[in-house]
This record gives sequence, C-alpha cells and structure tokens, in this order.
Amino acid sequence: MNPSALPQHIVTRFAPSPTGRLHVGHGWSALMAHDLARTHGGRFLLRIEDIDGARSRAEHVEGIIADLRWLGIDWDEPVVRQSDRLDAYADGLARLKDMGLVYPCFCSRADIAASASAPHGSAGPLYPGTCRTLRDSERVARMAREAHAWRMDMARAVRLAGPLEWQDADRGTVVADPLAAGDVVLARKDAPTSYHLAATLDDAAMGITFVLRGDDLRGATDIHRLLQALLGLPSPVYRHHPLLVAADGRRLAKRDGGLQLAQLRADGVDPARLRADLRLGMFPLGIRPDGP
Ligand code: GLU
Repeated sequence: MNPSALPQHIVTRFAPSPTGRLHVGHGWSALMAHDLARTHGGRFLLRIEDIDGARSRAEHVEGIIADLRWLGIDWDEPVVRQSDRLDAYADGLARLKDMGLVYPCFCSRADIAASASAPHGSAGPLYPGTCRTLRDSERVARMAREAHAWRMDMARAVRLAGPLEWQDADRGTVVADPLAAGDVVLARKDAPTSYHLAATLDDAAMGITFVLRGDDLRGATDIHRLLQALLGLPSPVYRHHPLLVAADGRRLAKRDGGLQLAQLRADGVDPARLRADLRLGMFPLGIRPDGP
C-alpha cells in the first residue's frame, strides 16, 4: 500500500453481517483495519450489518463480538447497528425518490432469472429493467397491493452524476463504472434499505475515511461512489484485500465451522500467536489468500 494514499485522519471500520460466526478471513480483515487505525493514531469502529431480518441472528452478534475480543481486537465508540438506523436509510431513499432516480420493482427472483440475458456474476443476473418502464398508473395500482423493492435507475443516475472516480490505496485513482451493476436494489422487499444504501450512508455518518474490505466488494465501491455523489457525501479511500481460500481451494464461508475463530478457540489455539501469524499473512489449516 502506498503510504501517501492514506487519509490524514484514519477512521476505519469492520462491518460484519451477523448471519454466522466469523472465520479466519474476517479476523484477518478486522485485524488489518484495526492495526491501521492504531498505528496511525486513528479510530477503529465496529458496525453490525443486521438489516437482513431473515438471516441475521442476535446470538451471532454476541458471538461476533466475543470472536473479535478473543482475537484481541478492540474498537472505539459504541457498536453501530444498522437495525437502529432505519430512519436514516428512509431519508436517503426519499431524497433519491425526489430526484426521480429510483422506481418500485415488483419482480421476484424467479422473474429476473427467467428474463435476464446478461452473464451471471457472483452478484447474480443483471436486472433486465422490467419495472423501469411501467406506466405511472400501473405503478400506483400495483404499489397499493404488491410487495416491492426500490431500484436505482442506473443510467439516469450516472447521467446526472457525471464521470466519477474513487481512490484505491493500492492502485491510485479508479474510474467508477456503476453501470456494470445494472439497476441495483436500494430498498428490499423485506427491508427498508439494501446493503449499498445502508453502507454508504453509514460510512458517511460514522466519519469513515478509510474502508478496508474484501475484493468481492470492489464492484460495490463503484455503486457507493455514485451514491456519495448523488447524496453529497464524502468519499473514503478504499482498499480491497484478497479473499481467503481453504486448503481445497474453496472460498472461506461462514458455514465452514472448522475454519471459524470460535472453533480455533475451542481447539485451544493461542490468540496472541494467531494474531501474530495473521499480521505476517500466515494462516492456519492450509488457508491462503486467493491472489496476491
Ligand atoms: N457486511 C459486509 C460483509 O459481511 C461487509 C460490508 C463492507 O465492509 O462494506 O461482507
């Protein structure tokens, strides 16, 4: 990482979703962000991304906090929980509605899978735009009786915002390409926000100046940059670290019990030793980064 790419005051965060316990990769990610703040006299914050009511579990929130403490990670300020910030997300969405940049979407996952022709990425098929062109009268009638998400009219939003860039701590200036993600969901059928809207608003509200997260979220950064421009929010510096893979080459997932911090703890692993190893980029159980 290029040290001159760092912001003057580092405020960074770890933002797990409580859909399971933390694995070694989460511990590594949290430790890197924590250490960056600690070595630069900055602040490290913890945010629990619990907007997914069906998959988030209170016991995982407690478990995640216990996992981080066991690994020797401490944070400044009380933990932020997204479920406490729904009003802020509703305000953000209302502003985008006023700008005419979002539309209600009634499609089910099956509808989208059936009509999408675009290549499937890890984030699923691109939305084919079915509900973007509905007539107002149909929209109003269906909104009264059908569950709906809210999607960004990406082409219109990009036209309004103009060309955008964001700062990558490793690669320098990156040209944002939010169109590649299509008309992303900003509020879900089952939650008054989505990851993209909540994370962007939270990073701004928490004063985050440096975001460290996995490489799987590199494309999300283009979307977050667009939301920042539309909502007049500052843009942090970003760094995307490689994801970790298990000995068999599969990506670490929360469901892989044996690779969880809680399991290492139960196996009697010394957290100080694990911490020292992770700081050197050395991982237990044949785990390795997927890429440089
Ligand atoms: N909650 C996300 C996750 O667990 C991380 C989001 C972020 O760091 O922006 O993958």
